[in-house]
Amino acid sequence: MKLRLHRFELPLRHVFTIARGSSAVYRALVVELEQDGLRGYGEAGENDFYGATWENMAAALERVRPLLEGGQLEDPRALWEQCRPALEQNTFAQCALDVAAHDLWGKLRGQPVWKLWGLTLAKLPPTDYTIGLDTIDKMIAKIQEFPGWPVYKIKLGTDHDLEIVRSLRRHTDAIFRVDANCGWSVEQALDLAPRLAGLNVEFIEQPLPPEDWEGMRRLRDQSPLPLVADESCQTEADVDRCLGFFHGVNIKLVKCGGLTPARRMIARARHLGLKVMVGCMTESTVGISAIAQLSPLLDYVDMDGALLLAEDIARGVTIDRGRVRYPEENGCGVRLIR
Ligand code: MG
Repeated sequence: MKLRLHRFELPLRHVFTIARGSSAVYRALVVELEQDGLRGYGEAGENDFYGATWENMAAALERVRPLLEGGQLEDPRALWEQCRPALEQNTFAQCALDVAAHDLWGKLRGQPVWKLWGLTLAKLPPTDYTIGLDTIDKMIAKIQEFPGWPVYKIKLGTDHDLEIVRSLRRHTDAIFRVDANCGWSVEQALDLAPRLAGLNVEFIEQPLPPEDWEGMRRLRDQSPLPLVADESCQTEADVDRCLGFFHGVNIKLVKCGGLTPARRMIARARHLGLKVMVGCMTESTVGISAIAQLSPLLDYVDMDGALLLAEDIARGVTIDRGRVRYPEENGCGVRLIR
């Protein structure tokens, strides 16, 4: 295999704001793996909260360059294990490599990844479109910019969250899911949950900071809405930890280290009776096309990341009003266009 690392800096459609900060550009590392004239792509973006920088991701991947360039790709899961000691401290780098390996694997086998996993596309959950925090007028305008979606994910974590949701509710009948990104106290959450339940909100994502397990247990016992862990569920070991504190988990490929551990987390969560969601960061069609391979296994999916970008770097899976369209391509279906 040949390893190449690409660096991209992409402007966002709107400044994207959540409870803990804002961003205007997306900085991505794209991993390219080439074998037998075919190329697979994977991606991870810089992220302050998780401490991922282009430099530390690239440095981690350089540690496995000799292993990659001295070998042939047979099975992405075996490669993930081989690279694990060098990459497990940097799940973002681990993810970008694992996704590239899956894309290449499917291209070498002449099949989409979902098909190689034995899945069908008969029953897929709709994906949401995410409305970042802003003035209420601008949040309404963001919904109107992408009308007709079956589900919107509303970022919350302000001192006027109920007013936001009530205002947006006047402009669409779509399902809402809300994400406080750790921005509430348990008292706030207990106060908001029943009111949000009356506004056709289907679940609350990460209401409390991840260290507040006691608060989560109280909330879990009293909330009329399901609670989904995001910041509280990062890697494989966290799935078991969420049982009794959340109703479901939001798995993200960069948090856990790629498609290989994500599939194990999905199976474990199902075994424990937890609802399963896979979410995206802001990311291009490279990362989104990887998430789409898992879609048949999920209750909920949030894979609108590429739509939040002003320009994309790849062709692959596309999304229109919540429906995912798969390209007639193998692997994850990704082609770089820049
Ligand atoms: Mg979240």
